[in-house]
Amino acid sequence: MDKSWLILIRDRLSLRYRAGVDAFIEFARVNVGGGSTIRCPCNKCINLDWCEFGIVQDHFVRYGIMVSYKIWLHHGEWPDNQHGDSGDDRDESKDDNRDEYPELLKDHCRETYMDDDDVEMDHDVRNFKKLQEEREMYPGCKNFSLLAFAVKVLHVKVENRWSNKSFDMVLHIFRDLLPEGHLVPELIFETKKLLRDLGMGYKHIDACQHDCALFSKENMHLIKCPVCGESRYKFIGGKGIKIPRKVLRYFLLTPRLRRLYMSRKTATEMRWYRDKCVYDGIVRHPTDTKEWKEFDLHHPEFAQEIRNVRLGLASDGFNPFGNMSNAYSMWPVILMPYNLPLWLCMKESFFMMFLLIPRPHAPGNDIDVFLRPLADKLKELWDNRVVTYEASKK
Ligand SMILES: [Zn+2]
Ligand SMILES: [Zn+2]
Repeated sequence: MDKSWLILIRDRLSLRYRAGVDAFIEFARVNVGGGSTIRCPCNKCINLDWCEFGIVQDHFVRYGIMVSYKIWLHHGEWPDNQHGDSGDDRDESKDDNRDEYPELLKDHCRETYMDDDDVEMDHDVRNFKKLQEEREMYPGCKNFSLLAFAVKVLHVKVENRWSNKSFDMVLHIFRDLLPEGHLVPELIFETKKLLRDLGMGYKHIDACQHDCALFSKENMHLIKCPVCGESRYKFIGGKGIKIPRKVLRYFLLTPRLRRLYMSRKTATEMRWYRDKCVYDGIVRHPTDTKEWKEFDLHHPEFAQEIRNVRLGLASDGFNPFGNMSNAYSMWPVILMPYNLPLWLCMKESFFMMFLLIPRPHAPGNDIDVFLRPLADKLKELWDNRVVTYEASKK
Protein backbone atom coordinates (compact mmCIF):
# COMPACT_ATOMS: atom_id res chain seq x y z
CA MET A 1 0.00 0.00 0.00
CA ASP A 2 1.61 3.25 -1.11
CA LYS A 3 1.41 5.79 1.69
CA SER A 4 4.11 8.14 0.46
CA TRP A 5 1.44 10.77 -0.28
CA LEU A 6 0.85 11.18 3.44
CA ILE A 7 3.94 13.39 3.70
CA LEU A 8 2.20 15.92 1.46
CA ILE A 9 -0.11 16.86 4.30
CA ARG A 10 0.76 20.57 3.82
CA ASP A 11 0.17 20.38 0.10
CA ARG A 12 -3.27 18.90 0.09
CA LEU A 13 -4.32 20.28 -3.23
CA SER A 14 -1.48 18.53 -5.08
CA LEU A 15 -2.44 15.83 -7.55
CA ARG A 16 -0.39 13.24 -5.71
CA TYR A 17 -2.15 13.87 -2.39
CA ARG A 18 -5.56 13.73 -4.02
CA ALA A 19 -4.68 10.50 -5.86
CA GLY A 20 -3.57 9.09 -2.50
CA VAL A 21 -6.91 10.08 -0.97
CA ASP A 22 -8.73 8.34 -3.82
CA ALA A 23 -6.63 5.20 -3.25
CA PHE A 24 -7.47 5.31 0.48
CA ILE A 25 -11.19 5.62 -0.23
CA GLU A 26 -11.02 2.72 -2.68
CA PHE A 27 -9.10 0.65 -0.13
CA ALA A 28 -11.65 1.36 2.60
CA ARG A 29 -14.56 0.68 0.25
CA VAL A 30 -13.17 -2.77 -0.60
CA ASN A 31 -12.08 -3.70 2.89
CA VAL A 32 -14.81 -2.53 5.24
CA GLY A 33 -17.63 -4.29 3.45
CA GLY A 34 -21.05 -3.12 2.39
CA GLY A 35 -21.74 0.05 4.45
CA SER A 36 -21.96 3.55 3.07
CA THR A 37 -20.07 5.22 5.92
CA ILE A 38 -16.62 4.75 7.42
CA ARG A 39 -14.71 6.23 10.31
CA CYS A 40 -13.15 9.48 9.14
CA PRO A 41 -9.45 9.69 10.06
CA CYS A 42 -9.23 13.41 9.31
CA ASN A 43 -7.80 15.77 11.92
CA LYS A 44 -11.28 16.91 12.87
CA CYS A 45 -13.09 13.59 13.16
CA ILE A 46 -10.02 11.58 14.37
CA ASN A 47 -11.70 8.24 13.62
CA LEU A 48 -14.48 8.98 16.08
CA ASP A 49 -17.08 10.18 13.58
CA TRP A 50 -18.57 8.12 10.78
CA CYS A 51 -18.94 9.85 7.44
CA GLU A 52 -19.92 8.99 3.90
CA PHE A 53 -17.07 8.34 1.46
CA GLY A 54 -17.47 11.67 -0.32
CA ILE A 55 -17.39 13.59 2.95
CA VAL A 56 -14.27 11.72 4.08
CA GLN A 57 -12.63 12.66 0.79
CA ASP A 58 -13.59 16.26 1.41
CA HIS A 59 -12.30 16.23 5.00
CA PHE A 60 -8.97 14.82 3.83
CA VAL A 61 -8.43 17.88 1.71
CA ARG A 62 -9.95 20.34 4.14
CA TYR A 63 -8.49 19.13 7.46
CA GLY A 64 -5.80 16.62 6.43
CA ILE A 65 -5.41 13.03 7.62
CA MET A 66 -4.15 12.35 11.15
CA VAL A 67 -0.37 11.97 10.95
CA SER A 68 -0.37 9.29 13.64
CA TYR A 69 -2.78 7.06 11.72
CA LYS A 70 -0.13 4.97 9.99
CA ILE A 71 -1.75 1.55 9.89
CA TRP A 72 -5.33 1.81 8.66
CA LEU A 73 -6.73 -0.55 11.26
CA HIS A 74 -10.22 0.94 11.16
CA HIS A 75 -10.32 0.60 7.42
CA GLY A 76 -9.45 -3.03 6.99
CA GLU A 77 -5.66 -3.01 7.04
CA TRP A 78 -3.88 -5.63 9.12
CA PRO A 79 -0.40 -4.78 10.39
CA ASP A 80 2.34 -6.53 8.34
CA ASN A 81 4.01 -7.61 11.48
CA GLN A 82 1.04 -8.65 13.53
CA HIS A 83 3.08 -8.36 16.69
CA GLY A 84 3.74 -4.69 16.04
CA ASP A 85 6.37 -2.90 18.03
CA SER A 86 6.05 -5.28 20.90
CA GLY A 87 7.22 -8.07 18.59
CA ASP A 88 10.01 -9.09 20.92
CA ASP A 89 7.61 -9.42 23.73
CA ARG A 90 5.24 -11.63 21.86
CA ASP A 91 7.97 -13.80 20.41
CA GLU A 92 9.24 -14.40 23.88
CA SER A 93 5.83 -15.45 25.10
CA LYS A 94 5.50 -17.70 22.06
CA ASP A 95 8.72 -19.41 23.03
CA ASP A 96 7.39 -19.71 26.51
CA ASN A 97 4.34 -21.49 25.24
CA ARG A 98 6.43 -23.86 23.22
CA ASP A 99 8.67 -24.76 26.15
CA GLU A 100 5.85 -24.85 28.57
CA TYR A 101 3.70 -27.19 26.54
CA PRO A 102 5.24 -30.57 27.53
CA GLU A 103 5.59 -29.31 31.11
CA LEU A 104 1.97 -28.29 31.16
CA LEU A 105 0.93 -31.73 30.01
CA LYS A 106 3.12 -33.31 32.65
CA ASP A 107 1.65 -31.13 35.36
CA HIS A 108 -1.84 -31.82 34.16
CA CYS A 109 -1.08 -35.57 34.15
CA ARG A 110 0.19 -35.38 37.67
CA GLU A 111 -3.11 -33.93 38.70
CA THR A 112 -4.83 -36.79 36.96
CA TYR A 113 -2.86 -39.29 39.01
CA MET A 114 -3.47 -37.41 42.19
CA ASP A 115 -7.16 -37.31 41.44
CA ASP A 116 -7.16 -41.09 41.19
CA ASP A 117 -6.26 -41.34 44.85
CA ASP A 118 -7.64 -38.36 46.63
CA VAL A 119 -10.26 -36.41 44.86
CA GLU A 120 -13.10 -37.51 42.72
CA MET A 121 -11.95 -37.23 39.12
CA ASP A 122 -13.82 -34.46 37.41
CA HIS A 123 -15.10 -34.38 33.88
CA ASP A 124 -12.29 -32.51 32.15
CA VAL A 125 -9.58 -34.48 33.90
CA ARG A 126 -11.21 -37.69 32.78
CA ASN A 127 -11.38 -36.46 29.22
CA PHE A 128 -7.79 -35.38 29.39
CA LYS A 129 -6.80 -38.86 30.45
CA LYS A 130 -8.69 -40.29 27.51
CA LEU A 131 -6.93 -37.90 25.14
CA GLN A 132 -3.56 -38.70 26.68
CA GLU A 133 -4.14 -42.36 26.03
CA GLU A 134 -4.47 -41.67 22.33
CA ARG A 135 -0.77 -41.08 22.06
CA GLU A 136 0.10 -41.71 18.46
CA MET A 137 -1.20 -39.52 15.68
CA TYR A 138 -0.62 -42.52 13.37
CA PRO A 139 0.82 -45.98 14.09
CA GLY A 140 4.49 -45.54 14.94
CA CYS A 141 4.32 -41.73 15.36
CA LYS A 142 6.65 -40.63 18.13
CA ASN A 143 6.26 -36.86 18.19
CA PHE A 144 2.58 -36.07 18.20
CA SER A 145 -0.36 -37.09 20.29
CA LEU A 146 -3.82 -36.19 19.04
CA LEU A 147 -4.03 -33.50 21.69
CA ALA A 148 -0.68 -31.96 20.74
CA PHE A 149 -1.72 -31.96 17.11
CA ALA A 150 -5.07 -30.29 17.82
CA VAL A 151 -3.55 -27.61 20.04
CA LYS A 152 -0.72 -26.77 17.63
CA VAL A 153 -2.74 -26.73 14.45
CA LEU A 154 -5.46 -24.55 16.00
CA HIS A 155 -2.77 -22.22 17.27
CA VAL A 156 -1.39 -21.82 13.75
CA LYS A 157 -4.91 -21.22 12.44
CA VAL A 158 -5.57 -18.42 14.92
CA GLU A 159 -2.13 -16.79 14.52
CA ASN A 160 -2.53 -16.64 10.76
CA ARG A 161 -6.26 -15.98 10.57
CA TRP A 162 -7.11 -19.00 8.48
CA SER A 163 -10.71 -19.37 7.51
CA ASN A 164 -12.56 -22.48 8.66
CA LYS A 165 -12.69 -23.62 5.06
CA SER A 166 -8.92 -23.40 4.57
CA PHE A 167 -8.43 -25.19 7.88
CA ASP A 168 -10.65 -28.05 6.74
CA MET A 169 -8.66 -28.20 3.49
CA VAL A 170 -5.37 -28.54 5.39
CA LEU A 171 -6.88 -31.28 7.55
CA HIS A 172 -7.90 -33.02 4.36
CA ILE A 173 -4.29 -32.98 3.13
CA PHE A 174 -3.11 -34.45 6.43
CA ARG A 175 -5.71 -37.20 6.15
CA ASP A 176 -4.47 -38.11 2.68
CA LEU A 177 -0.84 -37.82 3.65
CA LEU A 178 -0.64 -39.89 6.81
CA PRO A 179 -0.67 -43.69 6.82
CA GLU A 180 -3.73 -45.77 7.55
CA GLY A 181 -4.89 -45.64 11.18
CA HIS A 182 -4.19 -41.91 11.69
CA LEU A 183 -6.31 -39.81 14.06
CA VAL A 184 -6.54 -36.56 12.06
CA PRO A 185 -9.97 -35.03 12.71
CA GLU A 186 -12.13 -34.54 9.66
CA LEU A 187 -13.32 -31.00 10.29
CA ILE A 188 -12.56 -27.97 12.40
CA PHE A 189 -15.68 -28.74 14.39
CA GLU A 190 -14.17 -32.02 15.56
CA THR A 191 -10.82 -30.43 16.32
CA LYS A 192 -12.47 -27.81 18.50
CA LYS A 193 -14.54 -30.46 20.18
CA LEU A 194 -11.31 -32.05 21.44
CA LEU A 195 -10.53 -28.84 23.29
CA ARG A 196 -14.08 -28.53 24.50
CA ASP A 197 -13.58 -31.93 26.12
CA LEU A 198 -10.84 -30.36 28.19
CA GLY A 199 -13.15 -27.70 29.54
CA MET A 200 -11.86 -25.04 27.16
CA GLY A 201 -15.17 -24.67 25.34
CA TYR A 202 -18.11 -22.39 26.03
CA LYS A 203 -21.79 -22.66 26.76
CA HIS A 204 -24.65 -20.50 25.66
CA ILE A 205 -27.71 -18.96 27.23
CA ASP A 206 -30.54 -17.46 25.21
CA ALA A 207 -31.29 -13.86 26.07
CA CYS A 208 -34.23 -11.53 25.48
CA GLN A 209 -33.71 -9.47 22.37
CA HIS A 210 -34.12 -6.31 24.44
CA ASP A 211 -31.68 -7.48 27.11
CA CYS A 212 -34.20 -7.63 29.92
CA ALA A 213 -33.64 -11.22 31.01
CA LEU A 214 -31.72 -14.42 30.37
CA PHE A 215 -33.50 -17.66 29.70
CA SER A 216 -31.67 -19.55 32.38
CA LYS A 217 -32.45 -20.89 35.84
CA GLU A 218 -36.06 -19.96 36.68
CA ASN A 219 -36.64 -18.72 33.12
CA MET A 220 -35.06 -21.71 31.45
CA HIS A 221 -38.23 -23.13 29.93
CA LEU A 222 -39.97 -19.87 29.04
CA ILE A 223 -40.55 -19.02 25.39
CA LYS A 224 -41.38 -15.37 26.07
CA CYS A 225 -39.41 -12.76 27.97
CA PRO A 226 -40.81 -12.50 31.54
CA VAL A 227 -40.27 -8.71 31.48
CA CYS A 228 -41.28 -7.44 28.05
CA GLY A 229 -43.10 -10.48 26.64
CA GLU A 230 -40.96 -10.58 23.47
CA SER A 231 -40.63 -14.02 21.93
CA ARG A 232 -37.44 -15.92 22.71
CA TYR A 233 -37.18 -17.46 19.24
CA LYS A 234 -37.63 -16.35 15.71
CA PHE A 235 -39.55 -18.98 13.81
CA ILE A 236 -38.23 -19.84 10.42
CA GLY A 237 -40.48 -21.42 7.80
CA GLY A 238 -43.34 -23.70 8.67
CA LYS A 239 -41.20 -26.46 10.08
CA GLY A 240 -41.00 -24.94 13.52
CA ILE A 241 -37.20 -24.64 13.52
CA LYS A 242 -36.52 -22.42 16.50
CA ILE A 243 -33.64 -19.99 16.38
CA PRO A 244 -32.97 -17.90 19.49
CA ARG A 245 -33.03 -14.16 18.83
CA LYS A 246 -30.04 -13.49 20.99
CA VAL A 247 -27.43 -15.78 22.44
CA LEU A 248 -25.02 -15.01 25.25
CA ARG A 249 -21.85 -17.08 25.26
CA TYR A 250 -20.09 -17.83 28.48
CA PHE A 251 -16.92 -19.70 29.19
CA LEU A 252 -16.30 -22.09 32.01
CA LEU A 253 -14.55 -20.33 34.85
CA THR A 254 -13.71 -23.15 37.24
CA PRO A 255 -11.44 -25.18 34.91
CA ARG A 256 -9.67 -21.95 33.94
CA LEU A 257 -9.02 -21.05 37.55
CA ARG A 258 -7.82 -24.56 38.28
CA ARG A 259 -5.55 -24.45 35.25
CA LEU A 260 -3.73 -21.43 36.71
CA TYR A 261 -2.19 -23.82 39.20
CA MET A 262 -1.47 -26.70 36.87
CA SER A 263 1.70 -25.23 35.43
CA ARG A 264 4.54 -24.87 37.90
CA LYS A 265 5.61 -21.53 36.49
CA THR A 266 2.17 -19.92 36.68
CA ALA A 267 1.48 -21.48 40.07
CA THR A 268 4.58 -19.77 41.46
CA GLU A 269 3.57 -16.48 39.89
CA MET A 270 0.09 -16.74 41.42
CA ARG A 271 1.77 -16.32 44.83
CA TRP A 272 3.77 -13.31 43.73
CA TYR A 273 1.49 -10.76 45.29
CA ARG A 274 2.49 -11.88 48.75
CA ASP A 275 5.89 -13.50 48.22
CA LYS A 276 7.59 -10.67 46.41
CA CYS A 277 5.47 -7.63 46.89
CA VAL A 278 7.23 -4.58 48.33
CA TYR A 279 5.19 -2.19 50.46
CA ASP A 280 6.70 1.25 50.01
CA GLY A 281 3.55 3.33 49.77
CA ILE A 282 3.58 3.51 45.97
CA VAL A 283 0.66 1.93 44.13
CA ARG A 284 1.98 -0.36 41.42
CA HIS A 285 -0.42 -3.26 41.67
CA PRO A 286 -3.97 -3.67 43.04
CA THR A 287 -2.44 -5.28 46.10
CA ASP A 288 -0.98 -1.89 47.12
CA THR A 289 -4.39 -0.27 47.25
CA LYS A 290 -6.51 0.61 50.28
CA GLU A 291 -9.40 -1.43 48.89
CA TRP A 292 -7.33 -4.61 48.74
CA LYS A 293 -6.19 -4.22 52.34
CA GLU A 294 -9.71 -3.36 53.45
CA PHE A 295 -10.99 -6.52 51.78
CA ASP A 296 -8.36 -8.59 53.60
CA LEU A 297 -9.48 -7.05 56.90
CA HIS A 298 -13.09 -7.98 56.28
CA HIS A 299 -12.35 -11.48 55.05
CA PRO A 300 -9.36 -12.73 57.04
CA GLU A 301 -10.18 -16.35 56.28
CA PHE A 302 -10.06 -15.72 52.54
CA ALA A 303 -6.89 -13.65 52.84
CA GLN A 304 -5.14 -16.33 54.82
CA GLU A 305 -5.02 -18.76 51.89
CA ILE A 306 -2.56 -17.15 49.56
CA ARG A 307 -3.76 -19.23 46.60
CA ASN A 308 -7.30 -17.88 46.66
CA VAL A 309 -7.80 -16.14 43.36
CA ARG A 310 -8.63 -12.45 43.13
CA LEU A 311 -10.09 -11.28 39.87
CA GLY A 312 -10.37 -7.97 38.08
CA LEU A 313 -13.16 -7.43 35.57
CA ALA A 314 -13.23 -5.36 32.40
CA SER A 315 -15.49 -4.99 29.41
CA ASP A 316 -15.11 -3.23 26.10
CA GLY A 317 -16.55 -3.49 22.64
CA PHE A 318 -14.87 -4.99 19.63
CA ASN A 319 -15.75 -6.10 16.17
CA PRO A 320 -14.60 -9.66 15.62
CA PHE A 321 -15.85 -10.05 12.07
CA GLY A 322 -14.05 -7.05 10.64
CA ASN A 323 -17.22 -5.38 9.44
CA MET A 324 -16.02 -1.89 10.12
CA SER A 325 -19.25 -0.17 9.19
CA ASN A 326 -20.58 -1.32 12.56
CA ALA A 327 -18.67 0.14 15.46
CA TYR A 328 -18.98 -2.96 17.60
CA SER A 329 -20.84 -6.20 17.50
CA MET A 330 -19.61 -7.95 20.63
CA TRP A 331 -18.89 -6.94 24.19
CA PRO A 332 -16.56 -9.37 25.93
CA VAL A 333 -16.34 -9.43 29.71
CA ILE A 334 -12.80 -10.28 30.70
CA LEU A 335 -11.38 -11.42 33.99
CA MET A 336 -7.80 -10.91 35.05
CA PRO A 337 -6.19 -12.80 37.92
CA TYR A 338 -4.73 -10.10 40.19
CA ASN A 339 -2.60 -12.63 42.05
CA LEU A 340 -0.12 -12.39 39.20
CA PRO A 341 2.82 -9.98 39.14
CA LEU A 342 2.09 -6.55 37.74
CA TRP A 343 3.87 -7.35 34.48
CA LEU A 344 1.66 -10.39 33.91
CA CYS A 345 -1.79 -9.65 35.28
CA MET A 346 -2.51 -7.25 32.42
CA LYS A 347 -1.04 -9.50 29.75
CA GLU A 348 -3.31 -10.86 27.07
CA SER A 349 -2.26 -14.44 27.65
CA PHE A 350 -3.67 -14.32 31.17
CA PHE A 351 -6.97 -12.69 30.29
CA MET A 352 -9.89 -14.99 30.80
CA MET A 353 -12.88 -14.24 28.66
CA PHE A 354 -15.96 -15.07 30.66
CA LEU A 355 -18.79 -13.64 28.58
CA LEU A 356 -19.44 -12.54 25.04
CA ILE A 357 -22.39 -10.17 24.90
CA PRO A 358 -23.75 -9.68 21.40
CA ARG A 359 -24.88 -6.07 20.89
CA PRO A 360 -23.94 -3.05 18.86
CA HIS A 361 -23.56 -0.57 21.71
CA ALA A 362 -22.16 -0.58 25.21
CA PRO A 363 -24.30 -2.31 27.81
CA GLY A 364 -25.53 0.24 30.35
CA ASN A 365 -27.21 -0.70 33.59
CA ASP A 366 -28.63 -3.76 31.89
CA ILE A 367 -25.19 -5.29 31.96
CA ASP A 368 -26.26 -6.77 35.31
CA VAL A 369 -28.61 -9.08 33.40
CA PHE A 370 -25.63 -10.44 31.51
CA LEU A 371 -23.35 -10.56 34.51
CA ARG A 372 -25.70 -12.82 36.40
CA PRO A 373 -24.03 -16.07 35.28
CA LEU A 374 -20.73 -14.63 36.52
CA ALA A 375 -22.16 -13.47 39.83
CA ASP A 376 -23.80 -16.88 40.34
CA LYS A 377 -20.57 -18.65 39.55
CA LEU A 378 -18.49 -16.47 41.88
CA LYS A 379 -20.98 -16.92 44.72
CA GLU A 380 -20.87 -20.63 44.19
CA LEU A 381 -17.06 -20.64 44.27
CA TRP A 382 -17.04 -18.45 47.36
CA ASP A 383 -19.40 -20.76 49.23
CA ASN A 384 -18.24 -24.15 48.07
CA ARG A 385 -14.62 -23.71 47.00
CA VAL A 386 -12.88 -25.83 44.42
CA VAL A 387 -9.92 -28.03 45.10
CA THR A 388 -7.02 -28.00 42.69
CA TYR A 389 -3.51 -29.38 42.52
CA GLU A 390 -0.79 -26.78 42.92
CA ALA A 391 2.05 -27.82 40.68
CA SER A 392 4.86 -25.74 42.20
CA LYS A 393 4.49 -26.89 45.81
CA LYS A 394 2.88 -30.20 44.85
ZN1 LIG B 1 -13.52 13.96 8.99
ZN1 LIG C 1 -37.48 -8.66 27.23
